[in-house]
Formats: sequence, structure tokens, C-alpha cells
Amino acid sequence: MTNPRFFRRLAGMLLTGWLLLPSTFSQAQTANGQRDVLREITDVVGLKPRFQLRATTEVQNAAAVVYGGQRYLLYNPQFVAAVNRAGRTDWAGISILAHEMGHHLNGHTLRAGGSNPADELEADEFSGFVLRKMGASLAQAQAGMAVVSDEEASPTHPGRRSRLTAIGQGWQRASQQITASARVAAPSAAPAVLAQRPAAPAPVRQVAARSAAPVNVLGKITFRDQPDEDFYVTSRLSVVHLDRDDRTAEVVGRLTRSESLTYPYVLVDGRQRRLYISRSGDIFDTNGRQVAQLSDPS
Ligand SMILES: [Zn+2]
Repeated sequence: MTNPRFFRRLAGMLLTGWLLLPSTFSQAQTANGQRDVLREITDVVGLKPRFQLRATTEVQNAAAVVYGGQRYLLYNPQFVAAVNRAGRTDWAGISILAHEMGHHLNGHTLRAGGSNPADELEADEFSGFVLRKMGASLAQAQAGMAVVSDEEASPTHPGRRSRLTAIGQGWQRASQQITASARVAAPSAAPAVLAQRPAAPAPVRQVAARSAAPVNVLGKITFRDQPDEDFYVTSRLSVVHLDRDDRTAEVVGRLTRSESLTYPYVLVDGRQRRLYISRSGDIFDTNGRQVAQLSDPS
């Protein structure tokens, strides 16, 4: 799985004026059956590629930026070519792109401020995860970072050892998922029956993700009839629905503690409907039917 043609072709795209031409080069690299690395990366994490990839000498190496509401991955083609050469694999350049995409998908680019070590490790772990899913070995997934990172930590970036470790953790996590899904039968692909749609929480109030202060996420809720919708429980016990497309969050309910040992939490939505959460994270409606699952955020 190498992609020399991909980067070679992009290496010729020096878009020094990309800000002036925001719509001219949308989602390139699909023509002529060439490999579309952006799509491959987003495919393995189940998202649509809503990014614009730009080769530009305006950046020294690579960057994830939001401009005019659009998410961009910028990279310097000479830098990526050099990383591929030094890392002796084209996975090196792919891991750089995956790392930058990790900044976008983890929400780092939605808040103010530049690089910080925690965000960098999160993006590193994401790149390891993605590269394992794309078929890279651990060494291939680490090859890029091994050559571009500094050995010593700085105020903005972690040191090499912890960055390679983070990539390894992501790689291992993907590996475990792959092994586990090979062991168990695939879940039923039958669509949910609309008539059985249980109480999807009704909106309480709107908050914009961009302006919200950072909140910690305690868990993720997956409704059986809306498996592709992301609901999160925040550290303030709010239940938030995250819209993947326009990146907005909406508070749709709250968790409250109950006296019950079996169902220690109750989820109350904006219409005061109640769902009961068991200690193992199973969520039931008032008829005792399981309608959702609370799990660790991932
Ligand atoms: Zn970074």
C-alpha cells in the first residue's frame, strides 16, 4: 500500500494563492483513479471527507486550519516528500496528514490557541489508529514521527518518545478492534423499524460548539435507532448531541442521580421524558425496553 503517484502529483500543486481560490481545488485526487488518501483516512473512522487538502509552500510542514468556516489540511509538498524519503516509506507522509486530520476531528481547531502537548499526543494517537486501519505496520505508522519530531519536549510539542508511544497506543487500539471484530459475527445490518423509535431526547437549548468552553466528556450514548448519531454525556451531566456535519452541539437532556442501586442514573430530556441507566450502562425506556447504551467516549 504505497502511494508515490499521489504525492508526486500533488507536489506540482504549489498553491501560493489558495486563499484567493477557495473553491477551485475542491477534494482533488479522485480523478484518474488515483488514490484519495483523505477519503481513505475518513473512511476508516466512518466520516465523510469534509476537508480541503492544500499543497502550499505557505506552511513549513503541515497544519490543520479553519478558514471561512471551511476545514483545511495544509502541507508543504517538499516537506512531505522529504519525510517519505527519510522515513523510507510513503506511510510517513500519510501519517502526517492523518495527524493533522486528528487535530480537526478532535476539535482542536475549533478553539483558540496553537499547538500544545496534549493536543499533539491526541493527534498522534489518532494517526496511529488510522494507519493501522489502513494496513500500516507499527513501524510504518511511526516512521514519519520518528524523523520529524524533536527528541526533547518543548512548551508546544511533546518529546519523540511520548509521541511514538501515543502513535503506538492508537495503533494497538485499532488492532484490538480489528481482532475483536474478526472474532464475533458482524452485527445485524437490518435497519431499525421506524414504528419502534423510542423517545429520542428533545432539544432543551442550543449551544454552539465554537463558542462553548471546553467540557470534558464522560461517556457516549448510542441510541439503537440512531446508531450514527453522536450523543455525549459531559462532566456537567448534560447530554449533548453533536452534529458531525455542521459541528454544532445541542444540549438534549440531563442525567440525574437516582436512589436506585440498579439504575443509579436517570436521563431526563427536554420534554421531561425519562430513561433509566443501569450500572453497566444499559439504557431502558419506561417499558423496560433497552433503547440505548452508555459507553466510554472514543
Ligand atoms: Zn500537530
